[in-house]
Amino acid sequence: MTETADIVIIGAGIVGCSIAYHLAVQGAGSVLVVEKDLVCSGATGKSAGGIRQQFATDLNVRLSLESLKMFHRMQDELGVDPAFRQVGYLFMATTPRELEMFRQQAEFQQRYGIPVRIVSPEDICRIVPYVRLDDIIGGVYCPADGYAAPYEVTMGYASAARRLGVRIHEQRAVTGVLREGGRAAGVETSRGPIHAPIVVNAAGPEGGLIGEMAGVDVPVKPYRRQIFVTGPLAEFTEEPPLTIDYHRSWYFRAEMGGCLFSGPKDEESTFNTNVDWEHLAESVATAVARVPILEEAEIKRGWAGSYDISPDNNAILGAVPALPGFYLATGHSGHGFMHGPATGKLMAELILTGKTSMDISSLSLDRFRTGKPVREPMTMHEA
Ligand SMILES: Cc1cc2nc3c(=O)[nH]c(=O)nc-3n(C[C@H](O)[C@H](O)[C@H](O)COP(=O)(O)OP(=O)(O)OC[C@H]3O[C@@H](n4cnc5c(N)ncnc54)[C@H](O)[C@@H]3O)c2cc1C
Repeated sequence: MTETADIVIIGAGIVGCSIAYHLAVQGAGSVLVVEKDLVCSGATGKSAGGIRQQFATDLNVRLSLESLKMFHRMQDELGVDPAFRQVGYLFMATTPRELEMFRQQAEFQQRYGIPVRIVSPEDICRIVPYVRLDDIIGGVYCPADGYAAPYEVTMGYASAARRLGVRIHEQRAVTGVLREGGRAAGVETSRGPIHAPIVVNAAGPEGGLIGEMAGVDVPVKPYRRQIFVTGPLAEFTEEPPLTIDYHRSWYFRAEMGGCLFSGPKDEESTFNTNVDWEHLAESVATAVARVPILEEAEIKRGWAGSYDISPDNNAILGAVPALPGFYLATGHSGHGFMHGPATGKLMAELILTGKTSMDISSLSLDRFRTGKPVREPMTMHEA
């Protein structure tokens, strides 16, 4: 029997599940999500869960503000506790140039009512007394930022979408994108074709591969990122903010009373998501250099996942004019978890009405052709 849907979504990470849920809420017909592995098994499940409003472009700030509202009402809306902890985000600067950039961006964010402020090394010492500060000249701090639980949030969207009639097929890989008369017409999968007039590429770091299947150049590549977690630390009596050494692209936050910190970053694109245990000593040395108390801590676990990087480190959202019926919501470049809720709502609006309640056209694929990349310095370097 031929399998059909009105809309097929490729990928069941935060982005695919949020789009599916919002499509159902907004009254779409039959929606089917195809996931090659399990819900939340991709980048989302590997994420640090960081949620911040500290961005430098209008659209990224708006995506954060909208998502923040959605994280706050998630318990009521989806019936799951997203475990959202507003512990704050603290960026630390080593050079006057970095501090000046933080200052300009804080002024920009304050215009949106975001409670962000410039902090001195003495302030930082009060917030995170165990951090080595001799080369830190200041920072920027927003107590309303924080982190949530990626698995709970994504499963919340998936379960709510299912309750509204969305089908989610796990362990079924998309192997091709069907085209008919110059339009997207569905997907070929490991378990047969699914015919649908609308196909959404929400494959995260694999968004480029899905693009290839559709004959569309989607410039998204995977880059391995690693995380390590220590056992409980007596010094974390009060939970620290998600703290970023901007100069060294290194961050930490608390996790179950211990310290979760970032490990090495691959400079070359790779689909490898194995933990590089061989170089653990170097990762620990980097961490100890900034947070000396980690010298005594035991590493309990670690994992690796793929950042979903686009050429300008920003998401690619929208329709593909060259292939009607084919939509992109991929390449979030390390901030897809925090923007996943708003992305889902806006993509659903776009697919169903052709319009969005927030102008997301600056994130269209076309920007790479017309030479209008987004300049967002507060990405890539941190969570
Ligand atoms: C170590 C690490 C830390 C991070 N920290 C943060 C953070 O603090 N805050 C933040 O906002 N973001 C963070 N990110 C980035 C964030 O995880 C991603 O931007 C976000 O999860 C992207 O969501 P997604 O749904 O687009 O992708 P994914 O979660 O990767 O979902 C895509 C899904 O598509 C599936 N798929 C791919 N190809 C196919 C196919 N051919 N057929 C069927 N299914 C397919 C995959 O299996 C996957 O489940 C981090 C990422 C990593 C790796």
